[in-house]
Amino acid sequence: MTVPIDSATVTDPDAAVDRLPFGQAFAALPPAFFTRLQPTPLPAPYLICASAAAAALVSVDPAAFSSAAFIETFTGNRIPTAAQPLAAVYSGHQFGVWAGQLGDGRAILLGDLPAPSTPAPHVLEVQLKGAGATPYSRMGDGRAVLRSSIREFLCSEAMAGLGIPTSRALCVTGSDQLVMRETPETTAVATRMAPSFIRFGSFEHWYYNDRPQELRLLADHVIDRLYPQLRNNANPYQALLAEVARRTADMIAQWQAVGFMHGVMNTDNMSILGLTLDYGPFGFMEAFDARHICNHTDQGGRYSYAMQPQIGQWNCFALGQALLPLIGEVEDVQEALAGYQPHFKARMDALLHAKLGLATTADGDSALIDAMFAALQASHVDFTLFFRRLGNLRRDDPLQDAPLRDLFIDRTAFDAWAVQYRARLLQEDSSDLVRKLAMDATNPKYVLRNYLAQVAIEKAQNKDFTEVARLLAILEKPFDEQPEHEPYAGLPPDWASHLEVSCSS
Ligand code: AMP
Ligand code: MG
Repeated sequence: MTVPIDSATVTDPDAAVDRLPFGQAFAALPPAFFTRLQPTPLPAPYLICASAAAAALVSVDPAAFSSAAFIETFTGNRIPTAAQPLAAVYSGHQFGVWAGQLGDGRAILLGDLPAPSTPAPHVLEVQLKGAGATPYSRMGDGRAVLRSSIREFLCSEAMAGLGIPTSRALCVTGSDQLVMRETPETTAVATRMAPSFIRFGSFEHWYYNDRPQELRLLADHVIDRLYPQLRNNANPYQALLAEVARRTADMIAQWQAVGFMHGVMNTDNMSILGLTLDYGPFGFMEAFDARHICNHTDQGGRYSYAMQPQIGQWNCFALGQALLPLIGEVEDVQEALAGYQPHFKARMDALLHAKLGLATTADGDSALIDAMFAALQASHVDFTLFFRRLGNLRRDDPLQDAPLRDLFIDRTAFDAWAVQYRARLLQEDSSDLVRKLAMDATNPKYVLRNYLAQVAIEKAQNKDFTEVARLLAILEKPFDEQPEHEPYAGLPPDWASHLEVSCSS
């Protein structure tokens, strides 16, 4: 949906961008919460890719993507009339340790745009990530490299395609200006959007600085703006914690179900809305290993696949600690947090039943599911291919199992499990056709495998941006067959096993 702002915008995309109707809801908080500042321009920016689906949310016409105003605005070189750029302060626990003040070290908020099709308050805040240093940059340069910006752009839109709560990505622009990482790399700016970028760490910031007034202002802002239905609750702050815990559990169950690993689940990366936020060294599970660590920097495996649900809960406890002065009693905090585990379990269970194409629940289902994961683990089976191919299983014809069975090193283990699974399908009189349709709508065929991102990044580093656009188009429809893109659904090539993704970005 595209709503021209006035008649001039129909013919002039530059004017349309300059007149984007930015609101400033976050800036209604007192000055202590943020610093107003201008982005630092980058020389000769160019468009790498933009998402028409994300643009539609804020009524931006894709015709504007190639305009000078669009590229310059979403690089930080040109500021729309109504924007009042700012960077917000927050703190956080990193790898389980209190890290003190962090903040938008390289993200600059332009303001919020009307987003009529999104849930209330029907706005999306627009942030430029990598648009220059802020008072919260600490030792950093305020920049982001092309590699990490393309990854964030693609994964945001891939997660949206999977139906998983996430910040969105409007576009990514680049510049030939170099910044130093392990080697010199060119810079980029990813423009991301979410109803709010407030994090658990935003609350921890005021709690650990002993600023109860600001803590309350922030909680009231979040409740009034993002959770108005909680306002009339007897203890709205307790209700807020319970709802955030529920959403977080829900989000992480969805991560587990597609094999998504965030990689850096620090409390400063946890959204108060339960959105997947701050894409860094994330990964999608390939050869299944519950202990898999996608972030090369995370040597202890704190954020491994199997740990994510527990860490989500740990993070909710950190939020509960910060909200304690508002909630009142420790018991009330505990009560709010008590919902996390049962909610996670119920959601995970429902998702796993859907992944297996089971329409009912029965005694023995957890044993069936445990046995499946044990077999996947023992054979290090590709997670995405397994579930997608499982949808093709014929209830009464094991002779057609080969494409699925061949994913297992230990074929007898698969055969043993398949006997149990078939018995279960028989028990609910499952129809092959109905089950396959349902499973294909829940088990994606296409996920952002690291090597796919890597290929697109290397081409982009050579100024060929076509692969980024192709991947975006594929990942927007991850459940569709897309036979013309079959190779993108295959096993990763051998060279991909050497890929390492660290926090460097
Ligand atoms: P992250 O691990 O990317 O979530 O970042 C943790 C903190 O470091 C946040 O406060 C970021 O804003 C900040 N940060 C990360 N990279 C940079 C950078 N290149 N320049 C400035 N701040 C950064
Ligand atoms: Mg972060």
